[in-house]
Amino acid sequence: TIGMVVIDDGGRVAAGTSTNGLAFKIPGRVGDSPIPGSGAYADGAIGGAAATGNGDVMMRFVPSFAAVAAMGEGLTPTEAAEQAVAAIAAKYPEFSGAVIAMNKDGAYGAACYGYEIFPFTVRDEHDDESRFEYVDCI
Ligand code: ASP
Repeated sequence: TIGMVVIDDGGRVAAGTSTNGLAFKIPGRVGDSPIPGSGAYADGAIGGAAATGNGDVMMRFVPSFAAVAAMGEGLTPTEAAEQAVAAIAAKYPEFSGAVIAMNKDGAYGAACYGYEIFPFTVRDEHDDESRFEYVDCI
């Protein structure tokens, strides 16, 4: 899955996903990626989040909504992503996945579980191209 959270030059927040869901593909499967709140979620007053991983498990927790709601409660993007991922891991320790989150001010973070590290890319108006960042999984 490619998940994105973006802020335009007017301060509007959007989030979205594109996925082939290849690892879990069976005919007729929808998966988590196109489901608002699950694959991605944005609230212009708070920020946005997007998720990747074992969607059949993750979608039960609407992790993108959970991360945005947590930022709305005052958590940093990293804390919010960690909380969303940890909630899934607590019930499904075999799952693997990640959540990225960014608040409306452009602060961002990510959390993952079931991998060693999770790579994501970041770009702002000062960057000529995206740069990789890495987070250690919880
Ligand atoms: N979450 C996607 C799915 O379950 C897969 C992925 O993120 O790679 O369809």
